[in-house]
Formats: sequence, structure tokens, C-alpha cells
Amino acid sequence: MIVHTFQQGLLSTNCYVLQHQNTCVVVDVAFVSQELENFILQNNLQLQAVLLTHGHFDHCGGVEHLLQTVGKADVFVHVEDVELCKTAQQNPWGVPCQNCFPTKTYGQGRLCVGSFEFEVLHTPGHTHGSVVLLCQDKMFAGDTLFCGSIGRTDFAESNKTAMKNSLQKIKQIQGDYTVFCGHGPATLLSIEKETNVFLCH
Ligand SMILES: [Zn+2]
Ligand SMILES: [Zn+2]
Repeated sequence: MIVHTFQQGLLSTNCYVLQHQNTCVVVDVAFVSQELENFILQNNLQLQAVLLTHGHFDHCGGVEHLLQTVGKADVFVHVEDVELCKTAQQNPWGVPCQNCFPTKTYGQGRLCVGSFEFEVLHTPGHTHGSVVLLCQDKMFAGDTLFCGSIGRTDFAESNKTAMKNSLQKIKQIQGDYTVFCGHGPATLLSIEKETNVFLCH
């Protein structure tokens, strides 16, 4: 599996195209991005699914345009963030984007789409429906865990106590993972466990 990173929009959201042979899964689509869409079209990749790490507008605001451009696929989100997706246009910053309409919600544990296999961890805190997705030795952490930091917990849809519990859950994950974050650079789980003040004590 190859991970291609696309940085989108004013908030520099990271969107990821996970490629396996001629198929792909997209993790988060911030805004309409010709770069991302052209990449899929020009490489003739068959889109298997869009997986959302959470329902914030800067992670789902370009999903519908992507589906119109490259073809229909299921859009997964945690059930508790469906409403956020559907009302993305009402984001408090008035950032122009599209509402997003998920077609599936995550169950507990394993998720198979095409030849991709994910482990879905519900990690509420930043939003009630935030998830962390594990695939092989890669972790897609959304806005739950950043390189040296964590996501904001001061939104109406946030919960500080839940975030603490979710970070404990992440801390207990065995083995090492490359962590692909919703914003900022990628990192290693082992490094975050040692140096991230929110994880290392
Ligand atoms: Zn967010
Ligand atoms: Zn974000």
C-alpha cells in the first residue's frame, strides 16, 4: 500500500489516498481539490470508499464533488458524526464547502473495503464520532493525535474527558505505526509515546 498525501485548503488539512495496485481508498476530503481528483483519474484508480476520521467540514467538505468527479463509492463515518457531515456548510467560520452525506457508519473493529483491511478505533474527544484508522503499519489519526500535540477539545462537539480516555486507548496500542495526522507532519507512534506531553504520562 502506498500513501499519497494531499494538503488542502486554508487549514492545511491532510487528505490521504491509499493506493493498492489500481484501487484506492481516500481518507478525508477537505475541500474540492483538482489535484486530488486528477491524481485518481490520471492514474485510473478505482475508488473503493471514502473513510472519514470525523465529521468536521475541513475533513468532509469536498467528498460529494470527489464522488461526482471520480465515481460513486461508499462514504463511512462514525454514527455520532453523521450530523456534522450533513451540516458542514454551517461551520462557524463560514468556510465555503459542501455538505457531505455518508452512506455507511463504522461498526466496531474490522472494516474491509476492496483489498484494504482496517481496524477502526472509536476515539471520541475532538468530536464525539472521531475515529483512528489502522491499516497495516499505518495509523490515520484525524484530529485526535498530532505530531507533538492533540486536536482541540473546546468545540461544542468536543469532550475533554473522552479525549483523555481515547489517548489512553492509543497509548495501549502495541507495536509501532507511522501516524498520518489530520494536520501537520506525519510521525511515529513510538516517538509520540515518548515525547508527546499528552501521551507520555
Ligand atoms: Zn476536526
Ligand atoms: Zn481538522
